[in-house]
This record gives sequence, C-alpha cells and structure tokens, in this order.
Amino acid sequence: MSYSKDDIRDLLEGRLAWDKIKEIMSSPKDDDRFDRCIEILQERVPWPERILMPLGEHLYVVDKSGERIVKCDCGHEFGDWRQNWKLNALIFARDTREKLEEIYPGIRCPDPNLCEVREFYCPGCGTLLKVESVPVGYPIIFDALPDIDSFYSEWLGRPLADRKEFKDMTCEVTRGWGLEADGAHG
Ligand SMILES: [Zn+2]
Repeated sequence: MSYSKDDIRDLLEGRLAWDKIKEIMSSPKDDDRFDRCIEILQERVPWPERILMPLGEHLYVVDKSGERIVKCDCGHEFGDWRQNWKLNALIFARDTREKLEEIYPGIRCPDPNLCEVREFYCPGCGTLLKVESVPVGYPIIFDALPDIDSFYSEWLGRPLADRKEFKDMTCEVTRGWGLEADGAHG
C-alpha cells in the first residue's frame, strides 16, 4: 500500500487524523515511504545539500560534496555524522539545585550531587535540540550513529556511491580539544 505525499506531510506535521495514522501504522510498509518523507523534508529546508537521513526534529545527515555531515534545518553544520554532534553544540548543564529548580520545582527537584540535566542548543539558531538527564559526570550520550550505508544497500536496495567506514569518531573531537589545550599551554 502506498500513501500520498500529502498524507505523509500531514503525518510529519502532526496534522493527520488518528484513524488515518492507525491505518498507516498497521498496514505493511510501503516501499517508497522513506523517499516521500525525505522529499518532504528536503522541500522544507532552505539549503541544497541532499538529506540522507533525518536525525531528529531539526537535524539531518546530509551529503555535502561527498562528506556526510550533520546539519540543522537553519543551516548550521555540526561536522562528520560519525562524531557526536552534541560536542559541537552549545551546552547548558543544570548542575546546581537552583538551575534544576527552574525545570523541576519543589519536591520533584533531583539531587544535584547525583544528577545533572544537559541541554544542547544549536549555535546557529538557538533551538533546543536535545535534553539528557544523566548521573553527574556521565559521558555525553551519542544518541544515534546510523549505519547509513547498510540502510541504503540492505533496506532500500540502492547503495550510496561512496561507502564510508562505519565507526564512532567522537574521540577525534576530544583529541582536537586536547591538542588545542596543549598548544595554548605550551
Ligand atoms: Zn540551527
């Protein structure tokens, strides 16, 4: 079964009636639904790079001259998709009772000695992209590292032209910070 682009646009924008959503959810997946979603998302963004995969409400993995980077819908670029984009975001850590109280007033407030809430904002448009609530000092969570080549070759049956090595490259960001710090001090 196949759905119209208008139906999928409504679904993406949360405007589709519940009976229609149920029908779509319970029917076998139509082969071209992914393509239709991408087509709609592509029409909405103001930049030309091809969207390979959406990462969240505002973030996409796009093909930029052969590189696969994470891009915000405002156009801000976060770098290679194999590096956790959060390390290149603006981070606000709620790590004191006062800062936690702003979102968890009163008795609901977690103990700042045990828990911190981190908010990740886009440096380009200031949109809050992600919130994580973790034990104090916990490493920044890498939410999703999609295996884009496998998805295109095994699920869509049309491999992307230039296969990339699939590995977490986040440590390269932090290594870069280390080098910068060494340079500043020595
Ligand atoms: Zn942005």
